[in-house]
Amino acid sequence: MHMGRTETDMTDIRGSAADRGAAAAGRRHRAVRAAVAGGLISDEQPVVGLLDVAGIRESAAALRTAFEEALPPGTPVLHAFAVKASPLVPVVRLLRELGIGAEVASPGELALARAAGVPVEATVLDSPAKTTAELREALSLGIAVNADNAQELARLDALVAELGTRSPLGVRVNPQTGTGSIGALSTATSTSKFGVALRDPGVREWVVEAYARRPWLTRLHAHSGSQGVPLKLIAEGIAVLYGLAEEINEAAGRRQVDTLDIGGGLPVNFASDEHTPDFAAYVDALRDAVPGLFEGRYGLVTEFGRSLLAKHGTVLAKVEYTKSAGARPIAVTHAGVQVATRTVYAPESWPLRIAAYDAEGEPRTGEPVAQDVAGPACFAGDLLATDRPLPLIQQGDVVAALDTGAYYFAHHYAYNSLPRPGVYGFTEDPAGSQDVRFATVRTPQTVEEIVTESGAAHTDALLP
Ligand SMILES: *Cc1c(COP(=O)(O)O)cnc(C)c1O
Repeated sequence: MHMGRTETDMTDIRGSAADRGAAAAGRRHRAVRAAVAGGLISDEQPVVGLLDVAGIRESAAALRTAFEEALPPGTPVLHAFAVKASPLVPVVRLLRELGIGAEVASPGELALARAAGVPVEATVLDSPAKTTAELREALSLGIAVNADNAQELARLDALVAELGTRSPLGVRVNPQTGTGSIGALSTATSTSKFGVALRDPGVREWVVEAYARRPWLTRLHAHSGSQGVPLKLIAEGIAVLYGLAEEINEAAGRRQVDTLDIGGGLPVNFASDEHTPDFAAYVDALRDAVPGLFEGRYGLVTEFGRSLLAKHGTVLAKVEYTKSAGARPIAVTHAGVQVATRTVYAPESWPLRIAAYDAEGEPRTGEPVAQDVAGPACFAGDLLATDRPLPLIQQGDVVAALDTGAYYFAHHYAYNSLPRPGVYGFTEDPAGSQDVRFATVRTPQTVEEIVTESGAAHTDALLP
């Protein structure tokens, strides 16, 4: 069993994190050059999303290895990818090939996971607002469900009586361990909308009693981390989850809770190419805070999203015009709020690295000049970056918004009826030639599709 790391190990790990980052940056540069040279990005398609398939593979392997090395052999572990982070069928399919399941939170995400071939036993349904129909479908299929609250548990009572319990069932608790640096993403605040608020008066006793009365509740769930939440605080939430499972099992006099679903929420480094913290660092933090989790007495479910995908995505956009206002240079590009919604609306919380390339796809060089990188949407705040020092961007250049593989270009926002961009996975020739191949992950939305989706079938609906 892996027993924590020596200092030499840590130096190696830091070294390899830097190497891994440099390798990823190299692949990205070659992919950008190939996308420009091959016309993947063009006037017809002035913004595209790129996914680094090798990077996704590395992250999936890193996740599995980090937990495997820390757990006794044979401990059941399901890594369920939080589909909301990249709701693209080929991505979920690739992850499935890499031994990763799906965490879904809506009928759409469930359908998407099924289209990707994720088996029911590798699927987990969480969401704060499941309808009875959704619950019925999940239970009929045998998909794991985490009930969010007491009313949902009452619905499960009725459905279990009717359909039986093929599905592993649990309750989501909010350990109320506190807020990270981004309020809107902090899941474990005292007033979070998610789960059962464990520290509220009487609630812990209610949970223990609820399990005592329902022998079919065999899981406990918490998702206490997210971007901006320190590892220690996330691990503290999992320690609370573990303590509660022990209490339930003690009261039951048996291992009623056999699986802990520890959620996702590992923060991502948006400041450089390094994966820090990585999954191994998270496992170390968990092992410090909750050693009992690694004794093999509980099966584990994880639900990582951002940390699996974010660093492997790049938005590439053409620079249509450059201008200057109030002495500040502005590059007007085709990537803005429609592909980087969080960054545009909450730039302080979600700064993105921007890389500038010339019209041949070579990195632009030159003295950094503070400039704005603007999007195409018709509102003043549609900026990918403000006052950012970059080599002076010129008309016809291409800009890349980095680390956008999760919650960015896959999460289209239809402002100004801007189309959903195409998404392409890139790989290099395994023979080592570094020839880049692109595979279509999502076709770009057409103008005809936009019109159809905008009610064209009901054109006269509002006429008298
Ligand atoms: C969003 C979410 C996740 C994934 O969170 P990341 O920060 O992307 O890892 C996992 N579980 C639940 C319940 C979620 O809502």
